[in-house]
Formats: sequence, structure tokens, C-alpha cells
Amino acid sequence: MSRTPKKKELKAKEIKPVLSAPKAEPKKTSGPQLLRGMKDILPAEQRYWDFIRERSAKLAGAYSFERIDTPVLEETKLFTRAVGKYTDIVEKEMFTFLDAGEESVTLRPEGTAPVVRAYINHGMLNLPQPVKLWYLGPMFRYGRPQSGSYRQFHQWGLEILGEAKPAADAELIFLAYTLCKELGLRVVVHINSLGHPGCREQYKNELVDYYKTKRSQICDDCKRRLLRNPLRVLDCKEEKCQPVKQGAPQMVDKLCDEDRNHFMKVLEFLDEIDLPYQLNPYLVRGLDYNTRTVFEIFAQNSDESISSSALGGGGRYDDLAELMGGRPTPGVGFALGIERLILALKEQNVNVPDPQPPFVYLAQLGDHAKRKALTLFEEIRAAGIPATVNFAKDSLKTQMELSAKLNVRYTIILGQKEVLDGTVILRDMDSGVQEVVDRKKIVDALKKKRAAESFDLNHKE
Ligand code: AMP
Repeated sequence: MSRTPKKKELKAKEIKPVLSAPKAEPKKTSGPQLLRGMKDILPAEQRYWDFIRERSAKLAGAYSFERIDTPVLEETKLFTRAVGKYTDIVEKEMFTFLDAGEESVTLRPEGTAPVVRAYINHGMLNLPQPVKLWYLGPMFRYGRPQSGSYRQFHQWGLEILGEAKPAADAELIFLAYTLCKELGLRVVVHINSLGHPGCREQYKNELVDYYKTKRSQICDDCKRRLLRNPLRVLDCKEEKCQPVKQGAPQMVDKLCDEDRNHFMKVLEFLDEIDLPYQLNPYLVRGLDYNTRTVFEIFAQNSDESISSSALGGGGRYDDLAELMGGRPTPGVGFALGIERLILALKEQNVNVPDPQPPFVYLAQLGDHAKRKALTLFEEIRAAGIPATVNFAKDSLKTQMELSAKLNVRYTIILGQKEVLDGTVILRDMDSGVQEVVDRKKIVDALKKKRAAESFDLNHKE
């Protein structure tokens, strides 16, 4: 993700002409406008969200992760301390402002620091370890908006706290990979080890010494990074810096025995489960808290190249809890970006399953029928039959078109005459055959039809 320096403080924005509810290019009209980098998730898009929400929650549950929701607003120091003062996120991308009590607060740019804060605040150290948590929610970064990058975006994240063993790293890489596969995406995992701070410090010095001899061949950003956050030079995408980067010393060669051992074990686990990965010595992630294993997951294009920005990433953070004032607690986690997953689903032409259509649509004609329809509709719902109704539609033609569009199996028609007769019309939407059914018997009739259809379905497969 490319990042442009922006002001740190969130300033009140001028109200300018507006974005109307858009198809392609939103029209400008007068009135409030969508903020730059923000996105409305319109009804047509919701099936992607439902698909990802449903699959991700099931997967997390299957592996015994419990859901946690933390507030979107936190003390600013949580992130400056945890993510690191000289990281891109903290230097350029935080939505930070003073609240009415003059306290500096920040819209969370990521989920790990808040989860670790919650772990400490709620004494989760006293629970049986490890504590396995997942979240799905909005994050905020004041970066340069571009395709797949927003100022408000959403992450599905998993964290394992209180477990130092390499199996936990492998489990999380496996789960990030598995969710992508279950969604139908072609992906590839990149992995590296950053070691623990001791051996990383030594490596940083070597890297700086090497880059100092190449100062004339690197971009200004890299010169700045060398002073403030040297590992980020390995992240640089500038063409000019690539030859220098390729000759740079690599962290994996400098790992101490313990860190190397840990890394080898993670890789052995991945080999054991046949999870395809690539070692990427330039993968450093943008956060200060990462220790040892780091990984990112990329969408793979049909020509085997990979997407320029990652779908997600994560790694170990064994010192984070202590850094935040808690007891030393190892941890490992990752987050996948939902908007990027959706973009990849579209780019890779993945067929996202349509939500299960309702079984029955209830059409009503005239005021009298509308009033009676509400009670009938509630009876149908109470019987557990998926049903839908739209009281805003009056004409039979419109309602029949709607029920056909919704792909329901049956439509019930309730008009003035049926109300007086104590009946309803039941239309089979496949055959077009209609029958008159006693109003009192319609719920039972629907139950029977549903049971018969699920029997047929089970016996067809
Ligand atoms: P990070 O921890 O920065 O690597 O973020 C993890 C994932 O969150 C990324 O791989 C993206 O999928 C997603 N992400 C991060 N920043 C943004 C953004 N500004 N807009 C959309 N998605 C983002």
C-alpha cells in the first residue's frame, strides 16, 4: 500500500457538493458529501459481505476462537506505544483528535493493540491459556485513497495470546490461507522471520552500514527510513532501490539459534500440511511490535503474478503485552482486509453464492387484505418458514414480478375476495399452478410442501 504524508490531526472538513447514491460515477449535488476515502456499502454489495462474514465466523468458531468487539475509539497512546512512533501508521495515517475533555483519542488503525489492551484490562491472563479471540470490524487510516485502499476499511482478525509455540504461528497462517481458499480465491503466502529485538538490532545495524555505502543509489524515502525505521527500506517499491535491496544482508541469515529454530518449526508445520508458501526476505510489515514470524497473503493472478497489495498479514508480537504494561505474554495474530478480499473475489470472477431465497412471498391486494396479511405473515414466520412481504407494493403485477425476481418457491395471494371467503390463493412459482387453500390450513400446507421439498433435495444428492 503506498502511503502519502498527511496531517496527523483530524480537521473538521469543509462541506462541499455531494455524492449521491451512486452506480458508477457518483453525481455531485448540493448537500453533505461522503468523506474522501470512505465508502457506502450498498445493498447490491451486501452478499459479498454476508458471504465473508458467514464463512469467517464459522471458521473461527470451528478452531475455538471466541469473538471480541473493542471500541473504535481508543487513547492515542495505545497506538503510539504499541504500533510504534516511527511507523507509517502512526506518523502519517492516524485519525487523531482531541475529544471534548481535551484527551487525545484515535480511531483504531488496527485491531491487535486494542485486543491486547482488552486482554490486559480484563485479566484474561488468569483464564486457561492460550486465549483465542477473533474480531471483524472497521479500522481507520488517513492514507491516500486508491483502488482497494480506504480511510475506513474492515478487518477480520484472529489473535492467540499466551502461546509461544511455533504451532500457533502455523495455525494462524493456515487459517488465513484456509479462509481465502474457502471463499474460492487463489492466494499465496509470503513468510519471513524478524527474530527477537536482540538479534534484530544487530541486523538493523548491518543493514544501515550496508545502505550507507549506497546512499547515492537510493530514494529519499529510503534515506529517511534509514534514520527512523531502517527495516522499512526492504519494503521500498522504487525501481531505483531494487538492486541495492537485492544485495542487502538478509534477516534470516542473522537469526539467533532460538529464533531460527522457531522459524524452522513453523515452516515444518506448513510443509506437513502442504500449505504452499514463499520465503520472502523483504517482508518486514509496518509495525514495531512484530517479533519472529511475519507473513502476508496475496491474491494470485491467472498468470501466477501476485496482487501488488496484500489481502492480509500478521505475525508474532511476543513483547507487546509487556510493552503495554501487562505481564509478559507471547502472542500471534493476523488480519485480512474485507474490502481487498471482495476486490479479489471480483477480479478472480468467483461466484458468490446467492443468499437462500425465501420459500414464500405474500402478495396482498387492497387495504383490507393488507391488514389481514400482517397477521398471516407473522404466523408463517412463527412456523419457521422463510417468507417475505412488501407492504409498499399495491398492484398484483408488481408483486408477482417481485416474487419472481426473488426466486421464491410459492406466492400466496390474498385479495378482497379471499379475505371474505376465508381463503388464500397459493401459486406454485415453478409450474404456475394455483390452488385455493383454506386460510386456517395454509401454514400447515406450506410446512408440508417445505418438508417434501427438502426430502426431495436430500434424495437427489
Ligand atoms: P496491515 O496490518 O497494514 O498489513 O493490514 C492488514 C490488511 O488490512 C491489509 O493486507 C489489507 O487487506 C487491509 N488494509 C490495510 N489498510 C487498508 C486500507 N487503507 N484500505 C483497505 N484495506 C486495508
